[in-house]
Amino acid sequence: EKPSSSNFIRNIVIEDLKSGKVDTIVTRFPPEPNGYLHIGHAKSICLNFELADEFNGKTNLRFDDTNPLKEDREYVKAIKEDVKWLGFEWDGLYFASDYFEEMYNRAVLLIKKGKAYVCDLSPEEIRATRGTLTEPGEESPYRNRSVEENLDLFERMRKGEFKDGEKVLRAKIDMASPNINMRDPVLYRISHATHHNTGDKWCIYPMYDFAHPLEDAIEGVTHSLCTLEFEDHRPLYDWIIRECEMEHTPRQYEFARLNLTNTVMSKRKLKQLVDEQYVDGWDDPRMPTISGLRRRGYTPEAIRAFCREIGVARSNSLVDAKMLEHFIREDLKLKAPRTMGVLRPLKVVITNYPEGQVEMLDAEINPENPEMGVRQIPFSREIYIEQDDFMENPPSKYHRLYPGNEVRLKHAYFIKCNEVVKDENGNVVELRCTYDPETKSGTGFTGRKVKGTIHWVEAKNAVPAEFRLYEPLILDEEAGEEEEGKTFLDYVNPNSLEIVQGFVEPNMKDVKPHDKFQFFRHGYFNVDPKHTTSDKLVFNRIVSLKSSFKM
Ligand code: ATP
Ligand code: MG
Ligand code: MG
Repeated sequence: EKPSSSNFIRNIVIEDLKSGKVDTIVTRFPPEPNGYLHIGHAKSICLNFELADEFNGKTNLRFDDTNPLKEDREYVKAIKEDVKWLGFEWDGLYFASDYFEEMYNRAVLLIKKGKAYVCDLSPEEIRATRGTLTEPGEESPYRNRSVEENLDLFERMRKGEFKDGEKVLRAKIDMASPNINMRDPVLYRISHATHHNTGDKWCIYPMYDFAHPLEDAIEGVTHSLCTLEFEDHRPLYDWIIRECEMEHTPRQYEFARLNLTNTVMSKRKLKQLVDEQYVDGWDDPRMPTISGLRRRGYTPEAIRAFCREIGVARSNSLVDAKMLEHFIREDLKLKAPRTMGVLRPLKVVITNYPEGQVEMLDAEINPENPEMGVRQIPFSREIYIEQDDFMENPPSKYHRLYPGNEVRLKHAYFIKCNEVVKDENGNVVELRCTYDPETKSGTGFTGRKVKGTIHWVEAKNAVPAEFRLYEPLILDEEAGEEEEGKTFLDYVNPNSLEIVQGFVEPNMKDVKPHDKFQFFRHGYFNVDPKHTTSDKLVFNRIVSLKSSFKM
């Protein structure tokens, strides 16, 4: 395993520890519980937890739950589960909403210092008077209310005397600041909504820019890591810490968001895919959510190795989704047992094999990891092969089964196709072949060579199984950069899921949800935890075997 990759944030931490600026580091992962975590969050989780682990620091899991309308306990539960599954243990588990009283008191302090005021402009008026990059903003007519009046109005906002949107609390900074975030930003808004944690106790809620620095300071966070779009908010972050007279001073550092090809990542869009039933839930195996990746068959090890490889930089970039696939192949290569599964079965009768006879053949469980041993698979007169592995009129480069041709059955014998049986519509429904007992696998037969090796499952003992095959959910490579007049929904792939019914080896009867296998020639598969029952096996293809991706 590679050590934590060196990155600019890690260098800052090393420097801060060396200079004595901090004794120990404290980081936090601060999701808003308004959706499930995705692979982009995994980048932030790995960064925060691995940094603290490396330097014997601490990491809190803090729910940034300051927006009652979009948040839900279901998301809190799912987020905790996903962070744990990735293999991380938080030190403190906190809710921003637990600090509401303290935040309120700090807002009162700002008012008393003349640094905040209650403003009656509507959200639209506030936006319209903010100015632009080149034009300064306009001062609010309520900007010079007295401290007494502000204290009274703010208290009455809390008591619920005003309707949503009627009043806000704003910082009194500088309407001409070149940084728009410093032009009297809103600190509190009114929202008569029930909060998942505080119920109806509050009807005013702090804005992110006010709440986040206070949360960090209250928890003693030393390095507050967020994505690049908050870079311009940093002066405000520092202003809040200073003017609210927080004892502890956290520092904010920004890093690039993860973007993946053919993937939408924002929770808002992912929620829309769920709500409008493009997928069967947040954990649909096509989703880039942690729970979707888990159900697809990704492992925490693969996700963490991927995050380590992409590293942490300060410029936004688009990472090829194939790179993620590379890491699951790497992780499963030595771990996953090999097996054979026929996805689209075609019956083969071996006419010279004795009727009623079944023999057991030895098959290596993982040729790349011989310690995994050998399994036994039955062979008899009737087997299934893959429909694709037969062609009646093959092109010249086709080396699999066709009339008159001989192929090797993996772990078994050579068979030769003698006869093609069709139904009344002309569809091939059965092949009649002969086998050569001399060619038994493992006996060292060298008499003649065949060019094709195909997989199979013995018919009588075969276990029926469903296979779910996936393609990217979003067709647009640079998902999110939609053409004019289109939304990301126009790029949803209508063929992202194919379901086929086939057979697996009899020793697969007792597999459990999340068991992972490499099916010969088909790729890596995970036993689906949602659809698999005691009488139905469902496999999700995690990834096919071949990759065009080069590290
Ligand atoms: P989204 O837009 O997907 O809802 P968010 O940033 O609003 O994302 P939060 O729940 O606020 O979601 O995120 C928690 C943490 O995860 C934040 O520190 C955020 O910066 C980080 N994060 C979110 N998305 C990504 C991403 N794509 N890459 C890296 N970090 C991310
Ligand atoms: Mg956020
Ligand atoms: Mg968000």
